[in-house]
Amino acid sequence: MLPVHRIVVPTPYPVGPVNAYLITARPYTLVDPGPDTEQAREVLREGVVRQGLQLEQIERVMLTHYHSDHSGLAQWVHELSGAPVYLHPYELPKLSGNYDFVSDRLPFVLEAGVPEEVIRLVTADRDRLPKPFVCGENVVTLLDGEELPFEGGSWQVLHLPGHAPGHLCFYDRQGGVLLSGDFLLPHITPNPMLEPDPENPLRRNPSLTQYLAGLERIKAMDIERVWPGHGESMADYRPVVAASQQHHRERCDELTGLLRQNGEMTAFQLSRRLYPDLKGFNNFLGLSEVQAHLDVLESRGRVRGQKKAGVVYYRTAGDA
Ligand SMILES: [Zn+2]
Ligand SMILES: [Zn+2]
Repeated sequence: MLPVHRIVVPTPYPVGPVNAYLITARPYTLVDPGPDTEQAREVLREGVVRQGLQLEQIERVMLTHYHSDHSGLAQWVHELSGAPVYLHPYELPKLSGNYDFVSDRLPFVLEAGVPEEVIRLVTADRDRLPKPFVCGENVVTLLDGEELPFEGGSWQVLHLPGHAPGHLCFYDRQGGVLLSGDFLLPHITPNPMLEPDPENPLRRNPSLTQYLAGLERIKAMDIERVWPGHGESMADYRPVVAASQQHHRERCDELTGLLRQNGEMTAFQLSRRLYPDLKGFNNFLGLSEVQAHLDVLESRGRVRGQKKAGVVYYRTAGDA
């Protein structure tokens, strides 16, 4: 089994701390170094020193996905150590340093019927940290199924999208260990983020369909320990998978129930019914959750969307 050390790195985000992982087998590898704050730099440095290494000795930086709580310090560790940064190619454009989260999604947000004043609230509630940046020249891109050799073992790269289009997990097959990033978390159902499809940006990414397929995929695997992107490690991950599947089933039923009661509704109206008290950026996350379930329901023929004056209205498929 490859030696995995968890370093709990503080973040300024509501999610709480993020887990960075140090693998003390050559090449020395650091997964998801954390957000770009002074406090995170300090904690990361101390965590690495505690395992008898220096950040300058890191030989590989791996990112599970582009979110700044995981990726913010990748470039810094690269600059200290010269280590290349490994990630999925879909995540690279989001690490350009000027990626605009809201404008990238604006057509879908408008289509969902989000009023302008709510868009303004989401836009105003922006990340105070610098936008994550990784210099493209230092990047090595990884695809599903690739093997990453270590002294004494290897990792298989798993592309498990849904929370982010290029989300990766790393699997030590011999040790039965999975580093799951935000794909599988002990107490949170990861948000199936509303995004353009990286292969066809005019289309919405089928985030939840992809995510549910990923859950089936890891359910069929034989994993003895999961090290997640937030929280404690999990010895028995199957109940977490089952709870997540259950959550998505219930959410689908809840949305079809609301549509049956109310006739037609937009994704935004539905998100307001499910989450009446959301503030700022959380309005976007609530919308994301609803839109992802509507997309799954539509692909299964349970609801139908119809565009009127640029806004999509959903109704249950049985209704005229
Ligand atoms: Zn994330
Ligand atoms: Zn996260």
